[in-house]
Amino acid sequence: MEKRVVKIYSNDTQLSIETVMILEQKLKDAGFTIAEEFTDECELLICVGGDGAFLEAVHMYGFPKIPIIGINTGHLGFFQEMPSDDLDLFIELYLAKKYKIQTLNTVEAFVTLPHQTIVLNGLNEIVIKGRNTHAIHLSISIGGKFIERCSGDGILVATPAGSTAYNYSLGGSIVDPRIKLLQVTPIAPMNTTSYRSFTSSILLPSDLQLGILPEEMRDPTIFIINDGIQHRYNNVRDIEIRFSDKTVKLLRFENYYFWDKVKSKFL
Ligand code: NAP
Repeated sequence: MEKRVVKIYSNDTQLSIETVMILEQKLKDAGFTIAEEFTDECELLICVGGDGAFLEAVHMYGFPKIPIIGINTGHLGFFQEMPSDDLDLFIELYLAKKYKIQTLNTVEAFVTLPHQTIVLNGLNEIVIKGRNTHAIHLSISIGGKFIERCSGDGILVATPAGSTAYNYSLGGSIVDPRIKLLQVTPIAPMNTTSYRSFTSSILLPSDLQLGILPEEMRDPTIFIINDGIQHRYNNVRDIEIRFSDKTVKLLRFENYYFWDKVKSKFL
């Protein structure tokens, strides 16, 4: 019989730990092998926790090419497909191949420093902020052409998948993940006689890149945060943000519908 290997990633809440123990036994009973390490043998990544744990797993395993399923253990769980008390149903539907794959696009940032360029990837978003509450002043270009300066707390570039996360709290729009775009939203933009900023979100098609040039600032420290992972840089020369070809594949069962999820979580 063909060996079928799955990898489980979990956060450390009591419910997640208990869920993993039950899930491991049920998967073994159904003929699966539980991988210790994430290797090419794995056909599925199972993430137990909430969206935070899901994002951790995506980053820990380098935006894996195999499908991922989220088992929700009491969080918002926007990425998560199944509640933790539906483990039998999950295994039954998976074995019967009664699922579809939802492909989520990602965003990437090329951060140019004096001696190197660093690439950061995000499933939800890339955020650029100053230190503490210092204002940050950025010069924004689209497709290589200067558009506007942006001053304030920072700027957020969200994928459609990330549109329901931090982007939504900032007043950005919810985007159906089937649409290929990036949403650029200012964070607390300043609009005075000294500083001008755009004040609503900008939507960019997938083939246009966003250029961000930090302007002379009292404090040259910039924080770039991809999916909640914070990086601190000094003397950033420029940042280019692009729609990425890297994707994340979510396992969704047949009754999954994005707008039902939005309704159940937000409305
Ligand atoms: P976190 O505590 O892991 O997450 C903050 C909240 O965002 C949690 O309720 C999480 O859901 C939810 N969330 C994450 N991705 C989502 C998505 N695609 N759609 C809807 N909700 C989503 O915070 P973190 O470690 O700092 O950063 C992780 C993510 O949280 C970031 O990528 C950012 O989008 C979001 N965040 C939001 C705010 C805000 O809304 N003001 C501030 C900071 C960060 P679970 O409860 O299921 O984990």
